[in-house]
Amino acid sequence: MNSAICRYCGEDYSMKRFNLGYISCLDCGQKHAEAEARFKATCTAPAYNKGPFMFITSKECVVGIFKTGENK
Ligand SMILES: [Zn+2]
Repeated sequence: MNSAICRYCGEDYSMKRFNLGYISCLDCGQKHAEAEARFKATCTAPAYNKGPFMFITSKECVVGIFKTGENK
């Protein structure tokens, strides 16, 4: 379990990179830098605690945002 799966191309990449908040391999990270920044801005960090190999779907992101909104 030393690697994560790239969200864009499905290739595995360094878990260290994943832990830094990247959701893609180095190649896709460069291609999708803007989209990745937007993704990270949308999904809050605690959601990652579900597990290193579970990528957050857009549906779950929306639920997380909703819950956060409720607490305010
Ligand atoms: Zn990739």
